[in-house]
Amino acid sequence: MENEHKVMDDIVEVGRRIYMNGFVAANDGNISVRVGDDEIITTPTGVSKGFLTPDMLVKVNMDGQRISGNLKPSSEIKMHIEVYKQRSDVRAVVHAHPITATGFAVAGIPLEKCVLPEVVLSLGSIPIAKYGTPSTMELPEAINEFLPTCDAVLLANHGALTVGVDVFSAYYKMETLEHFAKISLVARELGGERLLTYEDVDKLMEVRRKLNITGKNRGCMECSKSD
Ligand SMILES: [Zn+2]
Repeated sequence: MENEHKVMDDIVEVGRRIYMNGFVAANDGNISVRVGDDEIITTPTGVSKGFLTPDMLVKVNMDGQRISGNLKPSSEIKMHIEVYKQRSDVRAVVHAHPITATGFAVAGIPLEKCVLPEVVLSLGSIPIAKYGTPSTMELPEAINEFLPTCDAVLLANHGALTVGVDVFSAYYKMETLEHFAKISLVARELGGERLLTYEDVDKLMEVRRKLNITGKNRGCMECSKSD
């Protein structure tokens, strides 16, 4: 199918970008796109995402069983399937270990503060899901509670997960997340972030509605804490 060829090319391109940006090392990370009710195209396990070719990709069903392709599907496919089960609006999932965002996840510091308008508009506050052993059901269980309200989640002692309506949208959220983490780190080195005011955040939420931004966004945790 022409559409699936395009999807595969896009996955290969996003794989190259997450590798070239240093969002993964060696064979880390995985990418998937839901192409049907019971069909997901995923990256294989044990291959660097920087050197993918379309023929390496694998198609699985919603139980994670391989439908086509020669290689073994990603060992994290269970985590991707959990996303697709909960979120019919999501068509793509990217999992990577970008250094700064993962540093926050390792330090146990969520990226919940409202400091950058772009991030408030697109992702809102970014929580940390508790640690789960990779490739087991612990990871899907750990992200479960955040999926209804988040398009980006940090994974404790592991990395990050972003979702979107297509693979580029999920990938761009990973870029935004890592960029936000880097800026937050620099601001902390310089004495700490100055937060947007509640009024600023309210105005941004209004802009979000006007722009019809449909991604999930759980708003500001700082503001809601103070309610
Ligand atoms: Zn990982």
